[in-house]
Amino acid sequence: KAKENGRNDYHQYTSDIDQQALHRLKLHHELMKALQNNEFLLHYQPQYDLATGRIVGMEALVRWHHPTRGLVPPGEFIPAAEDSGIIVPLGEWVLEEACRQNKEWQEAGLAPIPVSVNLSVRQFSRRDLIGKIAGVLEATGLDPKYLELEITESMTMDVERATSFLEQLARLGVGISIDDFGTGYSSFHYLRNFPIGCLKIDRSFVRDIQQDPSDAAIVAAIIAMAHNLQLQVIAEGVETIEQVRFLRKHGCDEMQGYYGSPPLPKAGIESLLYRNSQPDTNASFFSI
Ligand code: C2E
Ligand code: MG
Ligand code: MG
Ligand code: MG
Repeated sequence: KAKENGRNDYHQYTSDIDQQALHRLKLHHELMKALQNNEFLLHYQPQYDLATGRIVGMEALVRWHHPTRGLVPPGEFIPAAEDSGIIVPLGEWVLEEACRQNKEWQEAGLAPIPVSVNLSVRQFSRRDLIGKIAGVLEATGLDPKYLELEITESMTMDVERATSFLEQLARLGVGISIDDFGTGYSSFHYLRNFPIGCLKIDRSFVRDIQQDPSDAAIVAAIIAMAHNLQLQVIAEGVETIEQVRFLRKHGCDEMQGYYGSPPLPKAGIESLLYRNSQPDTNASFFSI
């Protein structure tokens, strides 16, 4: 009897694996088709200067406009895109589209601000990435100082590779930020030596700033450390006025989060950027 159960469990188990593999295969195929059919688009989330309330940057965030499922968030397809390698051509598309769009906004007369683009592990480990980035800047005509690349701590663990790569990027003139800072492994020693410009405090620390004294201490410490290392610091996932007050009190430079604005489609971000380009405007919620 036990043996029989064991066998059934085994069959159950393998067929689950088959199901998963099949599902993954199907998703990979769908992603490939989606890329060919131009089903991806970018939303943009503004980043605010905490002292002035002005928009000083924006992050490009990819979405999949699925023919039947509607707008699919990146959490539901980036892992599969990484897995299948589709992230490489998809990431190139994101980079090119973000640069092209930013240049277009500048040419339309909007006040120029940098656009941040997320890099994936897979992209980061390719030798041709620097050449690709240089090519995109050349093709779109975007001044490199208006492009920022977001990497994660895990990408800096191969220190030699990361150092040489980041130095080449810095030589191109593009900005480099560490995304989700505090959730990965960081060597403070290398942090000092890498040519990075900005730390993005992960939203998991920002979320409970009010209730959790250790999160508050961590956020305050990251801000102080960043400034001692001459780095800019931006808080992610800011949702409340209390969080804004805390961050201001501790001298955090910038914030990104629903309190300012969620990521917006082209038309939405355009009207924010337009308002931001008028002299003496700042986001209304900053007069507090
Ligand atoms: P991320 O780079 O850390 O981006 C910030 C995420 O936090 C975004 O989720 C944004 O919508 C969300 N967010 C912003 N403000 C708030 C807030 O106040 N509260 C809460 N709860 N969430 C907030 P999104 O757009 O779903 O993207 C998730 C992740 O997917 C990104 O995290 C990034 O790691 C990845 N991703 C997005 N676009 C790309 C891309 O083009 N390439 C790569 N490789 N990864 C991307
Ligand atoms: Mg910035
Ligand atoms: Mg990011
Ligand atoms: Mg993040």
